[in-house]
Amino acid sequence: MPLLLGAIADDFTGASDLANTLVKSGMRTVQTIGIPPDDLELDDIDAVVVALKSRSIPASDAIAQSLEAYRWLEGRSVRQTFFKYCSTFDSTDDGNIGPVADALLEAAGGDTTIFCPAFPENGRQIFNGYLFVGDVLLSESSMRNHPLTPMTDPNLVRVLSRQTPHKVGLIAETAVSQGAAKIRESLNALTAGGVRHAIVDAATDRDLIEIGHACRDLKLVTGGSGIAMGLPDNFRAAGLLPNGIQADALPPVAGHAAILSGSCSEATRGQVTHMQGRVPVWQIVPDDAVEKGVGLADDILDWARDKLGETPVLVSATAAPEQVRALQDRIGRDEAGSLMEGILAATASGLYARGARRIVSAGGETSGAVVKALDVRALRIGPQIDPGVPWTASVERDPIALAMKSGNFGTADFFEKAFGVL
Ligand code: ADP
Repeated sequence: MPLLLGAIADDFTGASDLANTLVKSGMRTVQTIGIPPDDLELDDIDAVVVALKSRSIPASDAIAQSLEAYRWLEGRSVRQTFFKYCSTFDSTDDGNIGPVADALLEAAGGDTTIFCPAFPENGRQIFNGYLFVGDVLLSESSMRNHPLTPMTDPNLVRVLSRQTPHKVGLIAETAVSQGAAKIRESLNALTAGGVRHAIVDAATDRDLIEIGHACRDLKLVTGGSGIAMGLPDNFRAAGLLPNGIQADALPPVAGHAAILSGSCSEATRGQVTHMQGRVPVWQIVPDDAVEKGVGLADDILDWARDKLGETPVLVSATAAPEQVRALQDRIGRDEAGSLMEGILAATASGLYARGARRIVSAGGETSGAVVKALDVRALRIGPQIDPGVPWTASVERDPIALAMKSGNFGTADFFEKAFGVL
């Protein structure tokens, strides 16, 4: 079965965001971690989101990786390609949005594409080509001080023009508000005038959906996750995507439950506290971690042996800011981070070997380490636990159910709730 939509995202959390949007719009979606292996088997999947880490690397590397991802998608006969970047258009004058879009457009054989990072729900709106964050211009928002991609020009036509040799145009709100047919007409007129890239205004979700509909025949679409809302309708209208499929269904997963928490964010601290007395908890003591290093995982696994089952065990490095600082002062910030990540990752693979198959991890970096330790390369996106945090299932072998929560996400009973949703 050919893939309907193939997306290339320039970072991991952005990829998850997009994958979540596509599932909610009725597409069965897999997110891969990096460029997928050639032998990855995908049955009954409508969309694949390839998560790269290409936002802030040199443009030539971002192009190379994005093209490699495109070749993989092309090998699956993808009908439309989507390049996903941040809703604040994070990039420098050297790239990578312009150079990657140019390379993908050429590879896909299209003459024109649109750029629309708008995400009204999160306060990102575009008007006359100017990007607003909340009620201020992008250049007045905290993005002006971003350590890697400071955004000091709010006009996306100018920003993109500095990143591409091609002509950049604008489809303004006056046209967008008239709906898909008018947007398509404006795009055709721009294309006829030699414009290859069109910044498109959007202030509301309705705008985004109309823009999505207008992109029906484009080989390449680029934007934030919001613009993806209207794309599934095009496939449905063409009879390629059935109506009413349960896009968030996951294969059944049986196995022990576990929670690994390495986030020290306030929300996570509350969530760990909530589980005290409800499930067996191993709290990693910094002294033990320093003394035993990754070897501490063996002690944790011995402890967990007779506790594994339906009820999760919770292994936590989560600590209050003064404790975190104390460890950082003692061994260094990066060392403290990798020490805890290493222990939690080794615990994850040990738990897997002992039959754990339903795993929740808390923390962005922590989740990255856990996914790596479990050797997971692709995830089917399932039902949402809390906004922005879906259950997923690994695509290969006997599936592992994984829910990865970044720091400040989720309600206080998140961990408890998670296993109820599965
Ligand atoms: P978040 O999503 O909340 O930012 P991350 O997992 O991305 O969570 O980052 C938390 C970092 O803190 C990780 O590198 C983790 O290993 C580290 N860490 C966890 N517990 C401690 C601790 N007790 N002391 C110092 N660092 C810790």
